[in-house]
Amino acid sequence: MNSSFQIGKIMGIPIKLHWTFLFIILVVAWSFGSSSLPWFGNTYGFGNVEPLSVRWIFSIAFAILLFICVGLHELGHSFVAKKQGVEIKSITLYFFGGVAAMDEIPRDSKLELRMAFAGPLTSGIIGLVSLLIAVLSSSMFGPKQPFTIFFWTLGWMNLILMIFNLIPAFPMDGGRVLRAWFAARMPYAKATRKAAEIGRMFAILMFFLGLFTLNFFMLFIAFFVYMGASEEEKATTINITLEGIKVRQIMSSDVRTIDPAMTLKEIKDLMFHEKHRGYPVVEGGELLGIVTITDLQKVPEEKRDITRAGDVMARKLYVIAPEEEASVAMKMMNESAVRRLPVMDAGRLVGIVSREDLVRAIELCSEQGL
Ligand code: ZN
Repeated sequence: MNSSFQIGKIMGIPIKLHWTFLFIILVVAWSFGSSSLPWFGNTYGFGNVEPLSVRWIFSIAFAILLFICVGLHELGHSFVAKKQGVEIKSITLYFFGGVAAMDEIPRDSKLELRMAFAGPLTSGIIGLVSLLIAVLSSSMFGPKQPFTIFFWTLGWMNLILMIFNLIPAFPMDGGRVLRAWFAARMPYAKATRKAAEIGRMFAILMFFLGLFTLNFFMLFIAFFVYMGASEEEKATTINITLEGIKVRQIMSSDVRTIDPAMTLKEIKDLMFHEKHRGYPVVEGGELLGIVTITDLQKVPEEKRDITRAGDVMARKLYVIAPEEEASVAMKMMNESAVRRLPVMDAGRLVGIVSREDLVRAIELCSEQGL
């Protein structure tokens, strides 16, 4: 994704920041810098710290450290995942949390349970350690010291992060815990459906709670949870439906390829006759790119008989092997936002698999009740 940038690597995992993150650092710093709440004998928030310069330095440092803690939470999940051989592609920090992009989690409820718990556990440990530092600092320097307030606030925020993530609803960790719990007792698809149902119930509950208390944050989370639950359910259903189906079985194998010298006008005629929406461009047996109807539409009508396939084709290619699972093709298409993938076997183009092929396969399989 272009909207996030990499800041480094930890345990071999690229850590990325989403651009909204920079904005949110300021919002978090502002909200903690402008509020102050007596909380169990100490203070939560930097609103009373004087002078102003110290208040804002602490607030900004706090915001940054808080997001490092969010990152550590994600690393907690990733650590357990990696130990079990699940590959983590990257961790992206968004505005109210992190997302670890990983390979599909093996359908092993014990592993899922451990992975799901690892994040909140990390937050819980950081929270308790921070509170301990705050208590020590409070007895040594006093409860009103910025240093004490800093760790007191950080400790509670991490505990809140832990509790928040344990809400038993997708896409929270608690949702995964719930699914793992159900999955140990029933088929995976049914477990996902049940967990998603409970997630949606929670979302509706939160929505009304947010509405009555005019808490916009709560409304936002309700929306997020509702969407997350439905998405998780859909993705799992598709994966289970496509299970065991190989790309080879659903691809179109008599691929019409075109020459890079072919003009767009000729390609358009071809699309009309053959009702395909994209063609692989091949020269001397080598796949060079792919031309789709979208590439064609970018060129004005009057220029289409002088523009050639080679000029407009997408050169960045996502290809897939015939023996790969169909669900992998689906995932690749979603991630790279393309509608068709050339199927390559030992450097040779053997077919093309499109989104339509996948949809058809899903429809046919669910028809058979598989
Ligand atoms: Zn988590």
